[in-house]
Parts: sequence; structure tokens; C-alpha cells
Amino acid sequence: MSSASPIKAARGVRDILPAERAAFAAVEHAASEAARGYGYQEVEVPIIEPVELIERGVGGDTDVARKELYRLEPHGAADGESPARLVLRPEGTASVVRAYFQGGLNQGPQPVRLFTIGPFFRHDKPQHLRYRQFVQFDVEVIGDESPAYDAEVIEMTWGWLRAMGIGNVSLELNSIGDGACRPRYLRALQEYYRPLRDRLHPDCQRRVEDNPLRLFDCKERQCQPFKEAAPRITDHLCSPCAAAFEEVKSLLDAAGLEYRLNPFLVRGLDYYTRTVFEYQHGALGGAQNALGGGGRYDGLAGALGYPDTPGVGFAGGVDRVAYMLQHELGTVTPPPAADVLVLPMIAGLDGAAAQVGRICRAVRPAAVDYSDRSLRAKMRAAGRTGARWAVIMNADEAGRRAAVLRDLVSGEERPVAWDDLAEALA
Ligand code: AMP
Repeated sequence: MSSASPIKAARGVRDILPAERAAFAAVEHAASEAARGYGYQEVEVPIIEPVELIERGVGGDTDVARKELYRLEPHGAADGESPARLVLRPEGTASVVRAYFQGGLNQGPQPVRLFTIGPFFRHDKPQHLRYRQFVQFDVEVIGDESPAYDAEVIEMTWGWLRAMGIGNVSLELNSIGDGACRPRYLRALQEYYRPLRDRLHPDCQRRVEDNPLRLFDCKERQCQPFKEAAPRITDHLCSPCAAAFEEVKSLLDAAGLEYRLNPFLVRGLDYYTRTVFEYQHGALGGAQNALGGGGRYDGLAGALGYPDTPGVGFAGGVDRVAYMLQHELGTVTPPPAADVLVLPMIAGLDGAAAQVGRICRAVRPAAVDYSDRSLRAKMRAAGRTGARWAVIMNADEAGRRAAVLRDLVSGEERPVAWDDLAEALA
């Protein structure tokens, strides 16, 4: 062994060990069931993308693009090609919209309903439930501007949380207008904030001129007192945006979903238009209480250089929801590694034990203990794995294709022929 200290995972990333993986699997399974139930199809997009896709997709002034992007070293390019500037994806919507056009899904029946589940990367300050690699359940409906799709995405993702028994979720809702009404609103916001500039955090001082909507994203204490009296976007919506917002609300009412109007909910990404929403759960606490959020992004396709195309989507935090299942609700019990453990009592039975393992595996997950520990030690280990049965083998019985089947819960034992094992375990 070398004297160097043992190598650990990079800061802000973590291993999902089997006990936690079971909760992740439950969350992912519920996600795909919820999405498929509404006719969404699964898509997979790359984890590395050109930096321009992200910068133009999420907006250059967002934290995600400015501070949190993992940029990859450019590799030497083939002759005549300039090296591609690549990043690890920080979010999924821009990629899914790119795939929709690049794969020709825009040519088929519209809208296209897609979902994907996978890892995303943000170089943020690591904290409890804020990781540098995390998993999102991402949902997109591309190709139709009806607010009914906004409501559908909300209803479906709400159902996803409910299906896992997560109650007490507060749904926050807002509309941030569109290219017709937002510019006028932003001017009103600037006029309100300009006289307050000196009292704002330096980042916010810059935002007053560069990106006033971002002022609402600010978490700095010194900026909070000014929000309450700021002009509200919902008082400045043009009539198509106001009508769309009414429609979303009335569809949510009809679906029996409760929501809270939050005029300061703007979300961190630039391409959103009209509906924005977020699910919050008090139990997670602090700044990490969002379980997911989304909204409409009618400006995104154009920003990426494709024909203007409306869309609406959602991103849910799988790590946070899995944490809730495991630590708040305690509803996920990791399954045992195997239901059946095959325990040869002496050396030299490896081949026979492997054969018995194969027979058992036809009906149940089965693992063989090939170690040279004593039977007692093997039994003790078996009891700790959560397995239900042990098949104990000695040489004599193995010669006759027989063994002892022990029920690890009741402690009952009985002789069994190999040929009857499958039936005994079924
Ligand atoms: P966003 O794309 O920022 O709207 O994030 C959507 C959801 O993903 C959030 O509500 C969180 O549940 C989850 N999420 C975002 N960033 C992180 C992170 N760094 N670590 C864990 N979960 C995250």
C-alpha cells in the first residue's frame, strides 16, 4: 500500500450507495410512470453539449451560465476544425429542444411530449441537498402554445409527487409575460429600483440595468426589503398573457390543484415566458426546499437559432425527492441483495454450489457464498443480508443432488432435492 492518502470523490459529488439507490429507483420509476400515463415518450440527450447551446439557452446573465458551468478543456481538433468548446450540461431543456429539431420531431404531429431522467452538473457551493452532480426528471411539451399544456405539465408532475406519497407540497405560480408586455414592465421595475441602487448588493446594482427581473432571484438579505413594494408583473401583463394566465389558473382549479400566486417567482433561466411554477416543501428547509419547477419557454427555440416554437417544461430534483422518501417518509426499504443464499459447508463444492445457484435463480435472485468462512460465519452473514432462504450444502448431499433449505425467518429446515428447489422457492 502506498503512503499517499486514500483517494476520495471530488467535492460536491457523491456515491449513491445501494440503500439510497433504492429510493432513487422508486422516484425514477414513479417519474416514468407519471409521464407515460400522459403520453410522454422517453428521450436521451448527451451529457456534453456545445457551450453556445447552454449560454444562449439559459441566458448569459444567469448564475448557471456565468459561474456554475463545468467547461471541458478543448481537445485537439481534426485538421481544419476549430476545437469544440464543450460543457457538462447544467439543465436539460435546451438539449431536448435542440434534439427536437435536430432529430426532425418538429416534422411530425405536434406537440411532442418528451421526458428524460439523468445527471446534470453545476459548479455551485456544495451544501446539504445541493450537489455539483445531481439527477433531474425533465419533462417538455414542444410545439403548441396552448396554456392547457402548462396546466397538464403541472398536473402530471404534481401527480408524480403524490404517487410517492409526498404531500404538503406548495405549488407556487406566476406569469412573467412575454416579449410584448415584459419590456414595459422591466422599465417600470428599473424606475422603481434606480433610486435604491446604492442600498442593493453589488450584483443587484448591476442587475438593475442589465437584467432587472433577476433582482427577484436575489437571496441577499440587504435586497429583500425592497421586493414587497416593487411593481408586480401580473399587474402589467398584455391581454394575451393575462388570458393565458387565467386559463392556466382555471384549469388548475378544475383539476382540484391548490396553488399560491407568487409575483416574485421568476426562475433563474432567461428563456421563460408566461407561466412559471415551482414546488416547495417545508421539510427540506433553507434554500434547498424546491423539489422542482418549470414554465413556458416560447423564446427558447429562436434563441438557439431554430424557428420560433412554443414549449413548456418541468425539471424535478430526483436527489431531493429521493431524500424525502428515505428520510422523511421512510417508505422505501432497499430490497435484499438476494432472496436466496447458497452456502456450501466445505471447500471443493464451488461447481455444485454454482449449479444450485443457477437452479434457484430461475425463480429468485440467488447469491453463492464462495468464501472459506465457517458455516456459522456464513449463516451469521446471511442473517444480516435480509435474504429469506439459505440453501446449505455438504459434500454427501451434493453427490445425491440434494441440500438443506432453511427458512431464515422462521428458522425451519428441511431436506430438498435440487430438482425440487425451484418449486420450493417459488
Ligand atoms: P432548476 O433547473 O434550477 O429549476 O432545478 C430544478 C430542480 O432540480 C430544483 O427544484 C431542485 O430540486 C433540483 N436541483 C437543482 N439544482 C440542484 C443541485 N445543485 N443539487 C440537487 N438538486 C438540484
